[in-house]
Amino acid sequence: MPAGKRLILMGPPGGGKGTQAKRLQERFGIVQLSTGDMLRAAVIAKTDVGMKAKAIMDAGKLVSDELIIAMIEQRIDSADCNNGFILDGFPRTVPQAKALDGLLVSKGIALDKVIEVTVPDAMLIERITGRFTCKKCGEGYHDKFKQPGRAGICDVCSGTEFTRRADDNEDTVVARLQAYHAQTAPLMPFYKQRGLLEVIDGNRPMDDVTNDIERVL
Ligand code: AMP
Repeated sequence: MPAGKRLILMGPPGGGKGTQAKRLQERFGIVQLSTGDMLRAAVIAKTDVGMKAKAIMDAGKLVSDELIIAMIEQRIDSADCNNGFILDGFPRTVPQAKALDGLLVSKGIALDKVIEVTVPDAMLIERITGRFTCKKCGEGYHDKFKQPGRAGICDVCSGTEFTRRADDNEDTVVARLQAYHAQTAPLMPFYKQRGLLEVIDGNRPMDDVTNDIERVL
């Protein structure tokens, strides 16, 4: 893949976007821009944005378009985005997609691909409620599908502290799925019409999904 790719990674919560985005970031040297990660950092830092977003995130609802668009506008202007980026978790609504269009036009750049990773709803609750990450390096694990090789010790960095997302519980997941189907799924026809959309079956081992994504790129 030539340098300078601009990608969107779409898919339901727990569908593996974050994992795949991290792999693409490493493989192609392009930056992962995760609005969820940015918001979680803002919540921890107790910034104005974080204070506004926390209750909405805990309820599994979507943070306002205005706030998200301002956040992305600022981030995409950073020098590390010049070589390309993977948008992970953005856009999530039609107004966000339109704002992104305007932003890219103003910068004279275009999207290369929109990748939708699909996973049936029934699989997502189990995937989400079992996941946890290493506090030190961020490596992702799962109670059932991917335990560390040695219990309580991260395979990657030997860290011994792990964390779970506040919104990775069953009640919030249902709300997050509803938001996805009602507000984000309508974006697929929007990108399909433009010939940008590639649909990948995400209900398979992670490496198979990665291979398929790399193939379409
Ligand atoms: P994620 O890590 O992508 O699952 O996002 C976690 C939560 O952050 C979501 O459930 C929303 O509350 C919020 N969020 C992240 N990205 C967006 C976005 N593009 N638009 C609105 N809310 C968002």
